[in-house]
Parts: sequence; C-alpha cells; structure tokens
Amino acid sequence: MVTVNQNYLKLPGSYLFSNIAKKVSAYKEANPEFKDSVISLGIGDVTQPLAPAIIDALHKSVDEMAHAETFHGYAPDLGYEFLRSAIAKNDYQSRGCDISADEIFVSDGAKSDSGNIQEIFGLDNKVAVCDPVYPVYVDTNVMAGRTGLYNKERENFDGVIYMPCKEDNGFLPEIPADEVPDLIYLCFPNNPTGGAITKAALQEWVDYANKNGCVIIYDAAYEAYISEEDVPHSIYECEGARTCAIELRSFSKNAGFTGVRLGFTVVPKELVRDGAELHSLWARRHGTKFNGAPYIVQRAGEAVYSPEGKAQLKEQIAYYMRNAKTILEGLSAAGFSVSGGKNAPYIWLKTPDQMTSWEFFDYLLEKAHIVGTPGSGFGAHGEGYFRLTAFGSYENTLEAIERIKNL
Ligand code: PLP
Repeated sequence: MVTVNQNYLKLPGSYLFSNIAKKVSAYKEANPEFKDSVISLGIGDVTQPLAPAIIDALHKSVDEMAHAETFHGYAPDLGYEFLRSAIAKNDYQSRGCDISADEIFVSDGAKSDSGNIQEIFGLDNKVAVCDPVYPVYVDTNVMAGRTGLYNKERENFDGVIYMPCKEDNGFLPEIPADEVPDLIYLCFPNNPTGGAITKAALQEWVDYANKNGCVIIYDAAYEAYISEEDVPHSIYECEGARTCAIELRSFSKNAGFTGVRLGFTVVPKELVRDGAELHSLWARRHGTKFNGAPYIVQRAGEAVYSPEGKAQLKEQIAYYMRNAKTILEGLSAAGFSVSGGKNAPYIWLKTPDQMTSWEFFDYLLEKAHIVGTPGSGFGAHGEGYFRLTAFGSYENTLEAIERIKNL
C-alpha cells in the first residue's frame, strides 16, 4: 500500500497570501466604488521591467539558439563558466572575499536552493531560524522530517530553535542561550523585517559557528539594497566564514529576474562536516537532481555584471529605495513606529493601538484601501507588526502614504 510522507501532514495550510487575495477580492466586490483605488504595498515581487542590457542579452542568446553552430542544449550542471566567473569576480573578489568560480553553483533561484540545501545534512541536525522568518527554511525542514509537530498554541514547530527578532533586540536574532543549533538560517538584509546586520555582529555569528561546529545558511537575496557602509554584502566578508557558511543569492530582487529565474549558492571547499566536504555533497545533489539553468537566462545573468547592466540596475534599485524612503519617512511623520527600509525594500511597522496584524490589515483595507502583509503570517513574533514593500510604483507609493497619513 502506498503511504505518504507523513511530515507533509504536519504543515498547517499556508494561507497567508491566499487569505489576503480572498479578503481583497471580497472587499472589492462589496465596495465596487473603491475597486480601482486599492493599492497593494504587500507584494514581494518586483514591478519594473527588465533592464535594457538584460533584454539585449536575452535577444542575442535567443538568436544563438536558432542556429546549429551556436545552439546550446543542456547547460553544465553547476552553471556556465562565463557566469560563474562573473559572479566570483564581481560579487566576491571585488569585495575582498576569497571565493572562486568553482565554489559557485548556478541555479534557478534562491527559493529552490534555500529549500533544497537541507538535503545534504543529516536528519538529526537541530535547526535555528529567526522569528519572523521567510517560511521556506522551516517548511522544507518539516517536509524532510527534521522537526516535531506543529504546536498550535505557540504557533510554531516543536524541535526547532526560534530566535525572536523583536523591537527590544533591534529585530536581530540572538545566539540561542539554551541549546547549540547545528544549522543556523540567517537572512540579511531581512525579509520580512527589512533589518540589516553589521559586519561586527555577523562576525560574532561566524565565530560562534566555527567554535561550535554549526553551519550558517546565509540568504543574501536582498544584498543589492544595502546602502550603509558597515553592513556586509556577503558573509564571506567575515573572517573564518569559509569554514562555516553557505551563501544563497538571487537575481530576482537585484535584477528583476522573478519571472526569468536565476540564482546561485556558494559552498566553499574548506567547509567540512562529519568528515565530508559539503561542496562535494552539494555538487552531487545538483548533478543528480538539477539539469542546469537555461543558457539564455545565464547569458542574461552575465549582462547584470556588464557596465551598462550595472548602471541600469543601480537606477532600478534607487527607484525602489526612493519608495522605501517615502514609506519610512511618511509613516514616521504620521507617528508610526517603523523600521527597515534602509538596506532592504521592506518596511516593518508596529500596528497602532495594540491591533493584531490582521486587524490592522482590515483597518488599512477598509479605511485607506491599502493592502499590506500581516506580520503574524511570518511567525509568532511577527504578531502586532505589518510589512509594507517598496516594489510598487512611485506614484502609488506616494498616494498610499498620503492616505495613511490622513487616516
Ligand atoms: N530568499 C528570500 C529571503 C526571499 O524573500 C525570496 C523571495 O521573496 C527568495 C529567497 C526567493 O528568491 P528567488 O526568486 O531567487 O527564488
């Protein structure tokens, strides 16, 4: 008789974004006069079109596929050398990080990598995550059987170490006091809080991991939004990270590839646990289960590092960060307690008058016709908070903030 992976049954339904969509369409149906004035500052997806340098590279590589002499079939499992070299040079060596092209594994995005990376670790590893958190890290460990059951009262899983990120710790995780984790997921700049970590604070995590034999899985998907000097773009800016950290990156938020799909993972060759090189294990996993990101997409990725690509993407990021500034300053002036938005496209705001995250969602939708994301959807410690994103248009962002100010 067929049985199913019982671990999947531990997962409570992920209703966050479908609940939001349902509430918004119910509201529009009941209030047709406001149907066209609803503004969403809830999306984590980009809205600006691909930059011209990327479009040119796509066109060119599509044309190559039309001729036998320049056609490309299966890509190398680990990525084309031209892209891996561009990444190593531009994202790492130029920042003084000792990372070589053969430590980079090109993929179809950071969601897959952040979900799949846990496969190379034993099931008895203890996982630590921030709370609130990007849900993929926890859910994939649940699916694998690395956690206990979902605890409805605590609204989290047994057997996982949650590191609360709250106002009183500046929304930064603290090294767990009671138990030493094996795998530590960190994401900076952070989704959902928009918080960033200084190099000195990240160095403490690296030192802790090296001392205790932990592995840090560092998600740097929002690295391109960093504006402050003392915030590291890569964990490999910290001394000793080569022996304790894996880094995940995405082309989604820095270059608008959410619909194109491209990302990569860095696994340094010095990272050894349980007598095995993690680089070899990930290469084996990648080689067996992944047949490479498309040639045309990798050429588009290469264009991200061209002088034109860099200049155009700098403008794109600046566009989104002007939105972030508008939200941050507008809400502060209106008396809200806000954070994030300086090194990330996310603004994390405390709900007023002790409202729950969902109460504030309803309030904003009904009174200002604005959609955001309830913080409680990202974890128990997100309750009482709300996430707004800078990915909308500037005009809509301005209008939304005016409406909130006038509430
Ligand atoms: N990591 C974090 C923290 C994210 O917020 C997201 C997307 O929202 C991803 C990874 C997914 O990136 P990708 O589009 O490369 O799969």
